[in-house]
Amino acid sequence: MEVRWARLVVAAAVAAVARPSPAPLGTGVDCELPARVRDNILRYRPQVDRIIEAALGDRHRHAAYNGLEDFVERFGARPSGSDELEAAIDFMKKKAEGDGFKVHTEEVMVPRWVRGEETLMMLSPRQKSMSILGLGTTIGTQQYPGGVLRAEAVVCDSFEEMEKLGEAKIAGKIVVFNDDFGDASDAPLTRYRSSNAYRTRSAARAACLGAVAVLVRSRTDYSLYTPHAGIQYYGNSTQIPAAAITVEDAHSIARHYARGRTVELLLKMSATTLPMRKSRNLIIDYGRPESTELVILSAHIDSWDVGEGALDNGDGVFINYQAVKLLKELGLMPHRTIRLAYWTGEEHGHIGGKQYVRQHEGDMDRLQMVIENDFGPFRPMGLRVNGSEGAACFVRHLTSMLGAANATSTGGSPALSEARHFSQRGVPAAALDVDQSRYYWYHHTEADTMDALDPHNLDLCVATMAASVYVVADVADRVPR
Ligand SMILES: [Zn+2]
Repeated sequence: MEVRWARLVVAAAVAAVARPSPAPLGTGVDCELPARVRDNILRYRPQVDRIIEAALGDRHRHAAYNGLEDFVERFGARPSGSDELEAAIDFMKKKAEGDGFKVHTEEVMVPRWVRGEETLMMLSPRQKSMSILGLGTTIGTQQYPGGVLRAEAVVCDSFEEMEKLGEAKIAGKIVVFNDDFGDASDAPLTRYRSSNAYRTRSAARAACLGAVAVLVRSRTDYSLYTPHAGIQYYGNSTQIPAAAITVEDAHSIARHYARGRTVELLLKMSATTLPMRKSRNLIIDYGRPESTELVILSAHIDSWDVGEGALDNGDGVFINYQAVKLLKELGLMPHRTIRLAYWTGEEHGHIGGKQYVRQHEGDMDRLQMVIENDFGPFRPMGLRVNGSEGAACFVRHLTSMLGAANATSTGGSPALSEARHFSQRGVPAAALDVDQSRYYWYHHTEADTMDALDPHNLDLCVATMAASVYVVADVADRVPR
């Protein structure tokens, strides 16, 4: 290097201590952090490479998948309030204790809603039996003679259309919502978020106009005649039965209706809500006794009662677990404690996560970051960030090192589950970002089983999570708030 250039580089380095600096060429990072912070992150490249190599190497290959397979086949679906959920929590607790982690549980009261028997028949214009899934918290049809509700259908593509029809056309009818699952040009996750109210609020809004039940087109961008479950909320409205139907049946009913035919339906649902039950958040710590700061790796352990909760969210449980176990086996003990948090009652409205945030309000300052895993174990892309510009830039530098796992992207505003409640209190939050293109094919259906998963993708997710959480937990600087 010429002396003149050397002098300039030194001068630039001195100036950079105080001023934001771009990342080195070739990292692809287009934002600036103070040079010290930037360098403190980028100096983890050797450890990041080592972690990714180990996660994908022979010794650890398919470890998360194999653990998940055993778990899923033992317990199956793990709905809130079920014995299966509590047994699954006990199983993970024992496993973590056996692996030498510090473990405790925190009690949470969770709802216990039981689906029971469900049938839907179209009686006219032709007879057809239709597949349905009652939505979480729905009442059944027990109050009708013989436990069966018989009524005419009104098809609406939107809330606006229903409200325009008004009480005169809606009262006494079953409203069939045939909305388009958001804007087809958006990513599946955005479509889900933007149209989710058709699942969560249809019953409440239709009941205000005197509807006797709602049937909602399933929340998916692709269907092979599979209904999709999920939560719904009555709020203060009159309670009426609410169920999901397949995309195919929603279209079929809509076609008859558009031709002016009377569609008559027979609905039988025996859903019941039992008293709340004790469950637990499971907390597993990996760290030094003297460390005061924490990074939370977040995943929910409960699932819906259909399918087996393999991709929502058994994979999150096992990918996060294997990520931390891998760090332990590699002898990488970060300066901050990594807390694996397994939430209960997520599917009924983030019940375990919300309670944790309420009960640990005083800990929010000690939290470096919350990293969530709840989008399915598909090919990882990187991390999504919910936080300040500084937090996003911090993560962009981090993901610039994840090339070996092909996970270098940094998206914004993730649709967070429990992590949302932390980020609302100013804690920087991130989420494992994956190729979402097939997530909603399986989400909340009987098809959420091990067959939806690819073991190599789980390894890549482990590599991404392990490398990310290690850097965030060990780096000298706090993630900017
Ligand atoms: Zn989930």
